[in-house]
Amino acid sequence: MKNTDQFIGKRVLVVGLAKSGVAAAGLLQRLGAKVVVNDAKPLEGNEEAADLQAQGIEVIGGGHPSDLLDRNFDFIVKNPGIPYSNPLITQAVSKNIPIWTEIELAGILSEAPFIAITGSNGKTTTTTLLYHILNIGKKQPLIAGNIGTVACTVAEEAKSDEIIVLEASSFQLAGTVNFKPQIAIFTNLYEAHLDYHGSIEAYLEAKLQVANNQTAEDYLIFNQDQELIRQSITSLPSRKVPFSVQGRTSEGISADEEWIYWLGDPYISIRIIKLPGRHNLENILAATAAAILSGCDKPAIENVLSSFTGVRHRMQYVREVRGRTVYNDSKATNTLATKSALSSFRTPIVLIAGGLERGHSFEELRPYMDNVRVVVAIGETAQRFNEFAESCGVEQTLRASTMEDAVLTAYEASTENDVILLSPSCASWDQYPNFEIRGDQFIHAVMKL
Ligand code: ADP
Repeated sequence: MKNTDQFIGKRVLVVGLAKSGVAAAGLLQRLGAKVVVNDAKPLEGNEEAADLQAQGIEVIGGGHPSDLLDRNFDFIVKNPGIPYSNPLITQAVSKNIPIWTEIELAGILSEAPFIAITGSNGKTTTTTLLYHILNIGKKQPLIAGNIGTVACTVAEEAKSDEIIVLEASSFQLAGTVNFKPQIAIFTNLYEAHLDYHGSIEAYLEAKLQVANNQTAEDYLIFNQDQELIRQSITSLPSRKVPFSVQGRTSEGISADEEWIYWLGDPYISIRIIKLPGRHNLENILAATAAAILSGCDKPAIENVLSSFTGVRHRMQYVREVRGRTVYNDSKATNTLATKSALSSFRTPIVLIAGGLERGHSFEELRPYMDNVRVVVAIGETAQRFNEFAESCGVEQTLRASTMEDAVLTAYEASTENDVILLSPSCASWDQYPNFEIRGDQFIHAVMKL
């Protein structure tokens, strides 16, 4: 760890007792800071709070006391999920108290450089792919962020010859000041999380934080096919590496039906790629560019591209069953994700969809429903999804109450060469604790077929 002395005697308020807050509080305490942790929830029975208290950290639960900020904090470490509209945070902003997320802390302390991946979609897939390539290419990657360990915990152990591959959400990036990855990846920008950021401009601004501190030594890999991104990065000093799936380009990395091109030259044949979908090709291009820039050789990249079949629950290839290919896309909790999934296949699809009722429209899927031959609808939105599917001309609409029932129904309605796809377009909480468990039950039922 470097720069550890700068925290000695600092007064720090950690807001939010989730995984990242607990990690940041413990770390800062060990570095000699005076840490106070505050969470809106009561502390009774909270083991993490008890653990922090045992380390000598003051923990205040059950609300945000109005005089809390009178304690002259030097800075705040905020949980990324807490919005800036939270009264305590608004008050802190008006008092000019710096508000960080724990990745700022990670950036200050880490001896290892960062590759940070952000964007509305594809973060986990790109991060995972890149991690595997760097691993095979012997670049000693460490994975951090939502899919891995909390960034500041990874930073605590990281050595200068390692690389931290960080999946960074806009919520995390919004709380950075000097954080600077050696390589930044900006996968795409879609209208999401506008309730948190307030506007698309504010959302874009938070995402751009990934590259705002970069210098002419650092690389920014970005989606050349999205005009808003293309235009928003022109004034940044970073070395720009565009990626495009719309055919060969002379700069950066690009792809057509045959090849992935690096700087305009054929580099790797598209045919070796296992991961289906145009959207995944974008993720592959971004990860490949970062791997090349990190010094990985072609065999390491080819090795991963020819074997990687997807991250669990994200367009994950499950198995072949008598000529049907089965994919689990349980993570698709909105129409945008299901849209990507549906456009990945040219063969007929038996789609399992539906879930928590939020009143959102499925209209966005209409142009992508041509390939869907059968829908097996589940969950609270089952009837509404089937009505929508019928209006799109889907041949057969069926219903199922459990996942096992849905898988059996889908299998019985399928024929050889069909794709059976779980891509619900809805959150899972009507029937499952989370999308992972929904996907696990799907896999379990598919394995029993
Ligand atoms: P994130 O970590 O950003 O949520 P994931 O890699 O977990 O992204 O993918 C989530 C869902 O988003 C996938 O199920 C897929 O349908 C869709 N998706 C993935 N990559 C892209 C992309 N590059 N463009 C559009 N949609 C994508």
